[in-house]
Amino acid sequence: MSDLFLKGKTALVTGSAQGIGLAIATRLAQAGANIVLHGLASPEQISEAKATVMAAGATDVMFSDADVSQPVAIEAMMKQVLAWKGGLEILVNNAGIQHTASVVDMPAAKWEAIIAINLSSAFHTMQAALPGMIEKGFGRIINIASVHGLVASAQKGPYVAAKFGLVGLSKVAALEVAAVGSRESGGVTVNCIAPGWTETALIAPQILARAAKYGGDMKLGEQDLLKEKQPSLRTSAPSEIGEVAAMLCQTWAHNINGITLPVDGAWTSQ
Ligand code: NAD
Repeated sequence: MSDLFLKGKTALVTGSAQGIGLAIATRLAQAGANIVLHGLASPEQISEAKATVMAAGATDVMFSDADVSQPVAIEAMMKQVLAWKGGLEILVNNAGIQHTASVVDMPAAKWEAIIAINLSSAFHTMQAALPGMIEKGFGRIINIASVHGLVASAQKGPYVAAKFGLVGLSKVAALEVAAVGSRESGGVTVNCIAPGWTETALIAPQILARAAKYGGDMKLGEQDLLKEKQPSLRTSAPSEIGEVAAMLCQTWAHNINGITLPVDGAWTSQ
């Protein structure tokens, strides 16, 4: 892909040391952006992620290890990121965690952590990033929600609450910036992507739990998970979510605003 449509632009992807975040950062790097990688990771994982985005074509790369459960840490990260290249055109709120238990059994601390990381962190990053985007007449906020921002599943109370909240927050922000800029400048848009089952570390414990029914066979565990909810019976690759994010960053996407785009093998069509 040689279309450098993000040359001169800077993108922060939270939770991009691995998984969906790294795939999105890699795809935005292919379009020539300066990339801010972020997450909680080992030094080896950080070097590897940096090398991956540079090899993909990033103009420059930096890494932040801010703990996004802490508003003070987010504030410091956003100051550093905004100063790095004189602004931030693309913000992808992707960092997220999961914990499965019934509402009755869910530890209160897990509720607090999931709401802080999966929802409140996006409020804080958006609050810091939007003024510069509005001033430039161009900006893209992409919030990685989930099918669980559109429909519920048992055992996922805080996760579903956070993702529904993220969808709502994105719609509000989209309304507030809808008239900014022009077709030529690209405007400012705020959208969600709603993945179904996607091959990352996040879903491994859930596959492992199912695999136990099949003598530990992970492939059969995955099939069991898919057949319950995802009619395509196929997972998504993280790179496929990266393609959707890149599409939303195009100038021509100025009027795609306030949507939640499922990548879910028809899960939410049921
Ligand atoms: P992952 O576990 O591979 O990556 C999560 C990232 O978030 C990591 O880089 C981690 O360091 C970072 N992170 C977690 N807590 C953090 C904290 N307190 N401070 C800073 N960074 C933190 O997971 P993934 O599957 O790539 O998930 C990415 C996003 O996609 C999440 O928001 C998740 O809810 C969403 N999602 C994933 C799936 C799926 O099937 N994998 C489906 C729907 C939605």
